[in-house]
This record gives sequence, structure tokens and C-alpha cells, in this order.
Amino acid sequence: MEKEENKKEEFYFLTSRQKNILLKDGIESLNDLLYRFPLRYENRGGIRSLLDLKEGEFVTVKGKVIGAKGRRSFKKRNFHLFESLITDGYGNLHIVWFNQPWVEQKIEIGKSYYFFGRVSLFSTKSGVRLQMENPEFEEYSSEEHLKIVPVYKKIGILSSKSVREIVLKALKERIDEFLPEEILKKESFISLKESFLKVHFPEDEKALDEINSRESIAIKRFVFQELFAFEMMMLKENISRKREKAKAIRKNPEIGNILRKILPFELTRSQKRVFREVVDNCSSDSPMYRLLQGDVGSGKTIIAFLTMIWCALDGYQSAFMAPTETLAKQVYERLKEIASKAQLDVAFLISSTKQSEKKEILKKIKEGEIKLIVGTHALIQEKVEYSNLNFVVIDEQHRFGVLQRDALFKKGNNPHLLLMSATPIPRSIALTVFGDLDISVLDEMPPNKAKVVTAIRGDYSRQKVELFLKREMDLKKQVLVVFPLIEESDSLDCDAAISAYERFKKGIFKNYKIGLIHGRMSNSEKDEVMDKMRKKELDLLVATTVIEVGIDLPDATVIVIENAERFGLAQLHQLRGRVGRGGEKGYCILMVSKETSRSAENRLRILTETDDGFKVAEEDLKLRGVGEVFGTRQWGEGEFHFANPLKDMKMLESARNWARKILEKEVKLNKEEEEKLRDFLKEYSEKKIRFLRAG
Ligand code: ADP
Ligand code: MG
Repeated sequence: MEKEENKKEEFYFLTSRQKNILLKDGIESLNDLLYRFPLRYENRGGIRSLLDLKEGEFVTVKGKVIGAKGRRSFKKRNFHLFESLITDGYGNLHIVWFNQPWVEQKIEIGKSYYFFGRVSLFSTKSGVRLQMENPEFEEYSSEEHLKIVPVYKKIGILSSKSVREIVLKALKERIDEFLPEEILKKESFISLKESFLKVHFPEDEKALDEINSRESIAIKRFVFQELFAFEMMMLKENISRKREKAKAIRKNPEIGNILRKILPFELTRSQKRVFREVVDNCSSDSPMYRLLQGDVGSGKTIIAFLTMIWCALDGYQSAFMAPTETLAKQVYERLKEIASKAQLDVAFLISSTKQSEKKEILKKIKEGEIKLIVGTHALIQEKVEYSNLNFVVIDEQHRFGVLQRDALFKKGNNPHLLLMSATPIPRSIALTVFGDLDISVLDEMPPNKAKVVTAIRGDYSRQKVELFLKREMDLKKQVLVVFPLIEESDSLDCDAAISAYERFKKGIFKNYKIGLIHGRMSNSEKDEVMDKMRKKELDLLVATTVIEVGIDLPDATVIVIENAERFGLAQLHQLRGRVGRGGEKGYCILMVSKETSRSAENRLRILTETDDGFKVAEEDLKLRGVGEVFGTRQWGEGEFHFANPLKDMKMLESARNWARKILEKEVKLNKEEEEKLRDFLKEYSEKKIRFLRAG
């Protein structure tokens, strides 16, 4: 209770209303607030005249609103449009917002605002015009002197501007350092407080450039401290895991026979080899800690399944954790089918499982009545107790953080652990990121995996592409059309998918059954769509990148990826792995927009030349360097905010060294330093744990 009070006191300079809004969003301390870095910065020197805007640009404009009207569509209940016209004294610009009815209350005729967004071309009855869609905006006030203005994500109802004012006040408070003196000195870092100042309010354009190019000393410090915390926790965890013995899963000829009998297909040589590696490891009492790498579609799942069933037949529980509910569901269905042949039940646990059902499942898991368990993050929640968990699979491991992996691991008594990933990681890097682990590689594709023909197409061939899609659908093949994540907001991204869906449905594809799936839909809505797709009740599915990982749609043969130039190669490769899974030849059409540069197109060309994910990653590596290829998204969502272990390889090594020196007491800390560091690590891991419980 007292602690609560203390936390609120940190914000004595705010109104209680503001405090409550922050609290509601999980912001309890100055640190919580200050670690929410600006989404971006606006260079207000850089305001563009309304007379010289071009299609496709992201710009900041300033203007007075001279007209505004909102309307709802009666045909479509959920459609709302708000349109306004602004002027900067020279030119005019139309600004429209779709499905953001609150904007109507915020924009007043006669007032001036900044708008930030993308300029697009819009056709009207009288021709085409430029307009801005769904921009962010902020009221203009003449007292504003900052040249470089940080733009924040809204907190509750607090606008970017209110957040900015609060951050400014917070930065006047005392902010304690927690990195030991020796590190600060040797690495020549600046203090935490100075670092916050630089990141929130870069003094000039040079400072801004340094932030954007990650050259800024402040950014370096944040990157370091994150990697340092990560290495401290990983080293500690590695040490404790190694110390303990595991329970061997016993080999037994009878079980071997059952496994052979229930196999749905013959394993490839590569799968046989990897399964043997896993069996050898798990049948000993040294705990398995193994990364299984294999390209999309190489058949990693069956390795996990066989091991799980073996484990169950020997009397132990095993758990398979997948990053999304849709994926988990798919894994569950597949495992259920195979396991039923060995008379084994499978439990399925996700956060949206009905309470009554959940209770039943939890009881069965706790009492050991069910040995095979599949689910999402729900598997690591506090109330889930296992009876004798001895094998843990983390699928698409890069989507989980170290703490999430660890949380599942800790549910057992030093269980065997298998991490699976489609992204090839060089061994040296894997060691730094995972600690001391073994690596198995599936380097062969199952025989039924057909080739995917990949082509790059521009807007000019859109009609031809659409005709091709029709032809495929007439042959009862399924088509996927995918839209990329644009900028930091997934609402824009959903809008693009939604409007394409509407367009298809009314226009060219009106005689086909079309579905839509995107991140703003609820899980049950998503499931429903995926189910329909699997049952072939849909011909075409418009999707955002929610379908990116692992989804198996055996009958989809064509994938069209819009704005392909915005994706990384590895991600495109993942996406095209969605098609041609049922043995039919697949097609991947990379649509590039008009403004795409030659070099961006060249980058994509690699995909048309090879089908091998490892080669794609290698080529990409040559072109773009390590950091770009393995984007932060590859590294556990929520694991790193600032760092990218590959881009920041050097820093990672130095962080690892410092962590080791401190754990081995080679670097001696004084009492105060020790306490400060301990508090930081505690807070760091608690925050993450909280983050994962929320998910
Ligand atoms: P990933 O490695 O991307 O997770 P999956 O394990 O999902 O790939 O396998 C992709 C598809 O290939 C699945 O439909 C699976 O049933 C099939 N498959 C896997 N191994 C074989 C095999 N040896 N023979 C035939 N089909 C296989
Ligand atoms: Mg998979």
C-alpha cells in the first residue's frame, strides 16, 4: 500500500486526473513514462507548402480548417467518413479520416493544425485530386518554439502534445543512475538523465540525425543497458539450468513401434537425422537445450510431435507453445489427429478458452490426466500447474522473449527444451543470444513441397494479375492477398486491406467468395475466417501480416503481396511459404508500387531466383548487412525495444563481457551500486513479466 503511494508521489506535478490516466496505462513511475520514446520527430522547419505536394510522400503540413463534414454510410453500418478542407493561404488540401468518428469532435472550422500523413491520389467525378488520409494532427499554437518536436503515442485520452508537456516536466525531476561507475567511464556513456533528455528533445537537426542513424551516444547507452540486462539474466539462467540434471525419457522398442505406426508420412532423411539427435539427447539425463532450424515448410513440427508422443507414452507431460492463437489451433488440430492413433488426448489452452472449459483443462493438466498440451502464452500463466512436464517446445521461438521461454521451462522440473525457428542464425550469434545451446538443422524439403514460382509485377500489370487470379480460382485454387504493416500504426495497414476487400467484393471478384482477416479482428473472428479458408468456403483471402507465420493452407496456390518493397526478404520468404503446400505448384506475386526504386526491385529479384530460405537470408545479408536482415521483429516481441542483437553485435559482446565480469565478481561494485543495479534488473524483469501476463 505504502509503495503504491510512493509511486503516485513521483508525479506530484500532475493533476490527479492526469495521474490516473497514466496509471491506467501502466505508467507508475518517471521511468515508465520516460522509456516511452517518441514515435518520431517533426522537424517544424520542414513544413511543406500545400502547393507542392506529391503523391506518395509523407509530409507535415500546417493549415487552417475552412470546411468540414462527417457522414455515416447507411448501407454499411460501420463506415464513417470525416472530410475537411484546409488552407495555408496559398493552396488547399482535402483531408479525410475513415472510421475515426472522434476526429469530428476535435477538428474545428477556423482553427489551425499540423497534419502528418501520406499524400495520396483520389479520383472524383471531376478528375483526380491530392488528399491526405487518416493523418495524425495537433492543434497549432503560436507559443510553440521547439524546432524539433517529439511526437508521442497517445496515452489514454492524452494527446501527443499533452504527453510532451508531461515528459518535459518529468525531465526536471531527479533521475537516478543505475549503471556502475566503471561501465559508464570505460564505455564513455552519458548519464541516464542526460540520455533521456537527448532522446526526448534533440537540440538540433544534427542531434536528430544522430538519433535516427543510431549514432547518438544516448541511443547507444539505451541499447547497451538493454543488452546488458538481457545478458545478466541469461547468464544467470544458463548457470542454474546446467547445474541440474534432467529426467531421461526412456527409449523402448514398443514405443518405437507405435511411433512408426502413427506417422502420417515417411520422414525425410534430414528429419530422421534430427529426430535421432533429439532422441539421443532426451534419453540422457543431461537437459536438452536445442535450437531446431529449418526453412519454412521443412517439417519441423513433426519432430516436435514425435518427441511429445514418445514423452507421453513414457508417462511424462509435454507442452507446445505457439505465438498466436491461430497457429496454436492449427498445431492442436494436427497433433490431435496423430495422437488419437496412439489413444492419447491433447489439451488446448489459449487465453480466450471459456472459463468453465479452462477449469476442466487445468484440472486435467494438474492431475496429469492429459499428457499433451498445446497453447499460446496462456501456457505460462500462474494458474497453470503441470504434473510432470518434461519436454517443452517453443515454436517460432523468435516471437517469444527469453523470460517467456524461461517461464514455461520453469513449469517443469528441468525439462528438455526444443526451440524451433525458420530464420537461420549463424552459430556464433546463436551462442551469444541463447547461451550455450545445441543446433539441429533440417536441410531438406519434404517431397510434397512444390516449387513456388515468384514474380515481380508493377501497378501497370494489375489487370493481368487479376485475370490470373480469376483463372486460378476457377480451377478451385485459393488465393491470398497480403498487405504490409505500414509505419507504426496498424490501423492504416488494416484500412488498406479493408478497402481492397471492399473493392474486390463489389468489383472484379464479385462472383467469388472473399474473406478478410486483419489484426483488429477478435480472435474468434479470425478463427472463423481461417476455418472457412481451410474448409475451402473461400476463394480469396485478403489479409494483413497476421497470417505471416506458420499457417498451413494446403489449397492456397497463389499469394499476392502488395507493396512488397516494404517487406524484408526473410519475411517475404516466410509469406510465400504459405502457398504450394499441398503439392500443387504455387505462385508468389510481389506487387511493387510506382515509386519503388531500382535497387529495391533488385533486392526482391533474389526471391525470383531461389527458393532456399537460407540462401535468401545470405544474399540479403550481403546486400543489407546483418542488422537489416534480422529485424528486431525476429528477436522476441517485447524482448528488445532499442537493441537489435545482430545490428548491435559488438555492443552485445561487450554487454556480455560486463555481465560475466560482474557475475564473476571480476568487477567489484560498491554497496550502493550493487543495490541500484539489482533494483534495475528486478524492475526490468518484472515489467517484462507483467507484459507477458497481459498477452
Ligand atoms: P515448418 O517447418 O515450416 O513448421 P511444417 O512442420 O508445418 O513446416 O510442415 C509443412 C508441411 O509439410 C505440413 O503440411 C506437413 O504435414 C508436411 N510435411 C512435413 N514433413 C513431411 C514429410 N516428410 N513428408 C510429407 N509431408 C511432410
Ligand atoms: Mg512451423
